[in-house]
Amino acid sequence: MRDNDHITMIGAGLAGPLMASYLSGHGHSVEIHEKREDIRTVEQSAGRSINLALSKRGIDALKDVGVFDVISPMMLPMVGRMIHDIDGSVHLQKYGQKASEVIYSISRAFLNKTLMDHAENTGNVNIIFDHSLLGVDLDSSELVFNDKRESFDRLFGSDGSASVVRDAMDKLSSINFRRKPLGHGYKELTIPPDAKGDHRMDSKALHIWPRGDFMLIALPNMDHSFTCTLFFPLDGEVSFSTMGSREKISELFNSYFPDTIELIPDLINEFQSNPIGKLATVYCDKWHYKDKTMIFGDAAHAVVPFFGQGMNASFQDCTVINELIIRYNGEWSEVHSEFSNQQVPNGHAIADMALENYIEMRDSVNEPLYQRRRELEFELEEKFNDRFIPRYSMVSFHNMPYSKVYERGAVQLNLINGYLSGELSKEKLHESVLNGLSPIR
Ligand SMILES: Cc1cc2nc3c(=O)[nH]c(=O)nc-3n(C[C@H](O)[C@H](O)[C@H](O)COP(=O)(O)OP(=O)(O)OC[C@H]3O[C@@H](n4cnc5c(N)ncnc54)[C@H](O)[C@@H]3O)c2cc1C
Repeated sequence: MRDNDHITMIGAGLAGPLMASYLSGHGHSVEIHEKREDIRTVEQSAGRSINLALSKRGIDALKDVGVFDVISPMMLPMVGRMIHDIDGSVHLQKYGQKASEVIYSISRAFLNKTLMDHAENTGNVNIIFDHSLLGVDLDSSELVFNDKRESFDRLFGSDGSASVVRDAMDKLSSINFRRKPLGHGYKELTIPPDAKGDHRMDSKALHIWPRGDFMLIALPNMDHSFTCTLFFPLDGEVSFSTMGSREKISELFNSYFPDTIELIPDLINEFQSNPIGKLATVYCDKWHYKDKTMIFGDAAHAVVPFFGQGMNASFQDCTVINELIIRYNGEWSEVHSEFSNQQVPNGHAIADMALENYIEMRDSVNEPLYQRRRELEFELEEKFNDRFIPRYSMVSFHNMPYSKVYERGAVQLNLINGYLSGELSKEKLHESVLNGLSPIR
């Protein structure tokens, strides 16, 4: 192992402090510059997803750095999607078949604060708040902050989807950065606890009101409220741009989400005052610059939130970097280039799967064909559990690289469609699973 390094990191969101804990474990000292104030000491403003879905990839990383035991008591299991039809009827679609195949709702603020505490408690990590990076000169290793200039030895960019570190890399190198706006935004609303202080809906599910071109979802919170998120077009006839007035908002909810009107008592006020978040996908073909700088998390691969994987993928980046540090005995040039080689295809794959999942969640979940596919997926998984795993399960309950999940998912879908269209008999389908899908270890 090389001598201990001094690492400069930008961004103390979800991924930065986790990576800092990993680096501290190798004896490196880490200084994180964060543009926000310390959320442990100031009130937070509304509008940034209040809770998140945490699954296996994220959980494994939290276990790896030794912080999971602090976080697990605050995790609420969600066993499936509770679909709310327009006539008020509800039905549950389970995420997996085994009791352990659940995802968890967790407060973003709690997770972020806990990860910062954990990193600082290692003794090697220092976080400087209110310190915005304005620009970087990568070749002279100089950072420009809002109040001063500073040189760096090694730079890690975890400064989110609008990353300044990534922009500097993009100017000097062929990282081929692209940002694709979704055209839909989101707004958060609240379902408070009922009069007895209990959850107003089943707290063991992620609730969805799929409505074709848009949808509402709700995740449970520990205080027995739910945080709802409306994903909705930004422009057009039925869009955020036309939803300003009390009448329009009431009309929208009466027409499409009538069963939520009772549940969201402060609907009009929240709708008019909560901000609209914008969504985009970030693709880059290289996540490092020479052997001094790398980006990870949303800075490298912001994805739309419809697979609940942005944070999980960002945490898995940290696990991979840690494994590479161990594998290459701290040789940074190898760590950097191998990180890009290994993870860029995975970043692209989860970005594309997340976009596909928006259509699935807001539209297909209620189609009979989708439901028949899910039933058949579960049946095949039971019969061939070492070869056939539904794509949702490969993403959420396994650690397999996302690019492999994408490839296997496409082969599996072909087989399923072949059977459902009558092209393949059951016998041929089973034969094709055995011959076409290698065992998963
Ligand atoms: C509505 C919504 C719902 C989501 N739901 C889920 C979910 O259910 N499950 C899931 O896994 N993921 C989800 N995500 C994605 C998840 O939020 C991100 O993938 C995750 O936050 C990425 O972590 P990060 O540390 O890379 O970026 P961030 O958490 O965004 O952190 C970046 C940090 O960098 C700081 N920063 C930015 N610029 C500078 C600068 N110039 N100087 C200094 N500091 C700077 C920021 O203040 C911030 O603290 C969701 C996202 C959205 C928008």
